Amino acid sequence: MWRKRNKFVSLLLLFALLLSGCSAQSKSAEEHTAGVFAMGTYMTLTAYGESAEEALTLSENRIKELEALWSTTDENSDIYKVNHSGGARTEVSEETAEILQFALDMAEQTGGSLEPTISPVVTAWGFISGEYNIPTDEELTDLLQNTGYEKVLLEENVVTLPDGMQLDLGAVGKGYTGDIIAELLKEQGVTSALLDIGGNIQMVGRKPDGSRWRLGIQNPFGEGSLGVLESEDGAVVTSGNYERYFIGGDGKQYGHIIDPSTGYPAESGLASVSIIAKEGRLCDALSTAIYVMGLDEATEYWKENEGFEMLLVTSENEIYLTEGIEDDFALNENFSDMEIYVITR
Ligand code: AMP
Ligand code: MG
Repeated sequence: MWRKRNKFVSLLLLFALLLSGCSAQSKSAEEHTAGVFAMGTYMTLTAYGESAEEALTLSENRIKELEALWSTTDENSDIYKVNHSGGARTEVSEETAEILQFALDMAEQTGGSLEPTISPVVTAWGFISGEYNIPTDEELTDLLQNTGYEKVLLEENVVTLPDGMQLDLGAVGKGYTGDIIAELLKEQGVTSALLDIGGNIQMVGRKPDGSRWRLGIQNPFGEGSLGVLESEDGAVVTSGNYERYFIGGDGKQYGHIIDPSTGYPAESGLASVSIIAKEGRLCDALSTAIYVMGLDEATEYWKENEGFEMLLVTSENEIYLTEGIEDDFALNENFSDMEIYVITR
């Protein structure tokens, strides 16, 4: 099921790196960049070619539109209306219905590891306000009563959310946005673009020189990146409690990804989860859910479900790659002490 991989760059990758280094100078396309602050995060959109500039302006507007639909704080947003409906049927836009259907499907498929109604618990820990707090067991038990994706009713574009429950698309919204923007750019004639949507990476095609994108995988234990992942036309999304956490009065670290079965921050033995797939929404949903699952359950899930690859970093300083990306990842020199294992089907 798992086998050790050679730690060092595979010959294949090394060859590809050398080649891309050579061809980089031979062809250049006009680069355009846009910075957008939306959905509580900073986004950097980089696109190449003649149609890039105009396409980026359209992209910025589209992101603002999506934010206005999915914000939990904007009184005019679809999600705000649903969350303040007091249990009444609420009509939402087509995009909102689509992302919600996706989130509910993924919640079911991951056995509730992804839980789009977990936000009252996230709020109780202080991750929304920044006023961190360790809730009592009783508080968490009470709050968990008001969670559960199976209690959300979605009929076409009408949502019925039981009174007292809250929806939050935070764990999938950025990934979905990546898909929509990548599609928009392609429609505008852009064939090469790299979107950094608050750490979620979405790629259109390859780099302008024809080589694959080289993405740093963040070191979940501190500064810098563990290594480089080569990828193209699709998405790479990383989740982990290292991204947002606080140290409690008890000296323990509490992170922002919650295990919906306990109400406590997930402690599954993983330090970070990166998911690689064609669709950003799938990557986003799975990076959060698989972080909750841990290595063994993640391995099972990967074997039973097609269409994505994963790079898991354990708290024990090991890396697990699924076989589809075995040759796409190279460790940085200063992390060469890390063991790499390959997960096979
Ligand atoms: P991500 O950065 O995509 O992993 O999403 C994490 C964010 O989603 C957190 O900051 C919470 O707001 C929310 N969240 C935490 N735990 C879960 C969970 N198990 N399912 C869905 N959303 C979650
Ligand atoms: Mg996510």
